[in-house]
Amino acid sequence: MRLSRYFLPVLKETPSEAQIVSHRLMLRAGMIKQSSAGIYSWLPLGYKVLRNIETIVHEEQQRVGHIPMLMPTLQSADLWRESGRYDAYGPEMLRIRDRQDRDMLFGPTNEEMITDIFRSHVSSYKDLPLTLYHIQWKFRDEIRPRFGVMRGREFLMKDGYNFDLTKEDALHAYNRHLVSYLRTYERMGLQAIPMRADSGPIGGDDTHEFLVLAETGESEVFYDSEITDLTFGEREIDHDSHEACQAVLEEFTSRYARTDETHDEALFNQIPEERRRVARGIEVGQIFYFGTKYSEPMGATVQGPDGKPVPVHMGSHGIGVSRLLGAIIEASHDDKGIIWPEAVAPFHVGIVNLKQGDDEADAACDALYAQVAALGLEPLYDDRNERAGGKFATMDLIGLPWRITVGPRGLKNGVVELTSRRTGESEELSPEAAIAKLK
Ligand code: ATP
Ligand code: MG
Ligand code: MG
Ligand code: MG
Repeated sequence: MRLSRYFLPVLKETPSEAQIVSHRLMLRAGMIKQSSAGIYSWLPLGYKVLRNIETIVHEEQQRVGHIPMLMPTLQSADLWRESGRYDAYGPEMLRIRDRQDRDMLFGPTNEEMITDIFRSHVSSYKDLPLTLYHIQWKFRDEIRPRFGVMRGREFLMKDGYNFDLTKEDALHAYNRHLVSYLRTYERMGLQAIPMRADSGPIGGDDTHEFLVLAETGESEVFYDSEITDLTFGEREIDHDSHEACQAVLEEFTSRYARTDETHDEALFNQIPEERRRVARGIEVGQIFYFGTKYSEPMGATVQGPDGKPVPVHMGSHGIGVSRLLGAIIEASHDDKGIIWPEAVAPFHVGIVNLKQGDDEADAACDALYAQVAALGLEPLYDDRNERAGGKFATMDLIGLPWRITVGPRGLKNGVVELTSRRTGESEELSPEAAIAKLK
C-alpha cells in the first residue's frame, strides 16, 4: 500500500477524551472513530489489525476441532423467555420492537440461540461431542462505556459452545478451551493468565477468566508471581486426550491466581510473602462450564446409549476480539506510539522515502516494495511529499515491526537503513541484505 493512496487519518493532537494510552494511540493512529458512546467505526488500519486477531482466533479454534458458523446479531425475546434470562439480564440488554410489535434484542451473548439450533437438529448421543463457535458483534448497554474498544457497547466477541453427553466430557471441552486460549493469546504476543473467577449472569460453577496484567486494567487480581514464569510455547497437545488437556489445566491453574470476586485472603496468605502480587488486569476471555443450566429449561436433550433422553452438558467460552486490540497496545507501546507484535501488525514493513521525486530514491523504494511483497509480507510505502521527521513520527506512531529508510545519500554508498520498531536499533545494509533480514 502507498500511503498517498491510503486512508490513514492520524491526529497531531492528543485527544483529550481518551484516558488510557491504548485509546489515545488508537485515535491518534487513525484506527477507530467513535460514532456514539461505546460504538466505533473501524478505520482501515484498525480494521486490518482486527482481522489479523480474528484470523488467529479462527485458526486456534479450528486447530482443536471447533466448528465455525455465524449467528445473527438480532435475536427474538421468546428464546430468552424460555431460559428465564429475558427479565434477569437487566438494562445491559438492548431491547428492540419490530413493526409487528415483536420483542427483539441485540444479542449480548448466544447461549439461548445456539441451544435452540442444537435442539432442532441433534437428537442422539452419537452426534456428540460438538463445539460450535462464531465471531460476531455483540451489544451490551454498558453503564460506563470507556477506554475506547476496551469497554465498548458494540464489540466483537468470539463465543463458542460445547455440547457433551456427560459432565466429564464437558469438563474436557472446558480444559481443551483453556489449552487453545493459552496458545491463542501467546500467538498475539500476550501473556494472559487464567484466574479463578465468578460466573456472573452466564451462570455455572467452573469458570476461569484470562487476564492480561496492566495498570489500566479494570479488574483487581491477586496471584502467585510464579505463575508469570509459565509459557505454553510450541507444544503439540492431543486435543482429544482428556489427560493431556487436564495436565495443562493443572499446570496453569494450580498456583493461586484469582480476581477480586473470588479472592480468598487466607489462601493468598499461604503463599510466601515475596511471591504475593496484587495488581490489575484486563479480562480478554472467559471459559465456563454450566452443565444443564440451558439444556434443561430449553429441552436440549439427546437419546443416551440406553435409549433414555438426557439433557446435554454445556459450556460457553468467550474471547474479547475487539478488546484485544486495546490490551495488546497497553502491553506493547512506548512514548512514540504502538509497537505491534509481528503476528498482528497491520503491515510488516514501512518504507520511508527521504526524498520523494528523486529518481534514484523513488526507483529504489519501488524495487524494495516489490521485493517485500514477493516475500508475502505487506509493505506500507510512505511516498508523500513530507519532511523526514513527519514520516518517521507516523511510522513510530502506527508501530510497524520494521522500517526501511531510503535516501539519496545512503544510496550513493549502496545502503538503506533497516530499523526495528521494538529495539529501535538501525543497521545500514544493502537493499538485498535488508530484504534478506525480513525473511
Ligand atoms: P467485563 O467483566 O469486562 O464486563 P464480561 O465478564 O461481562 O466482561 P464475558 O461475558 O465474559 O464478559 O464476555 C467474554 C469476553 O468479551 C470478555 O472476557 C471480554 O474480553 C469481552 N467483553 C465483554 N464485555 C465487553 C465490552 N463491553 N467491550 C469489549 N469487550 C468486552
Ligand atoms: Mg460485563
Ligand atoms: Mg467479567
Ligand atoms: Mg467474563
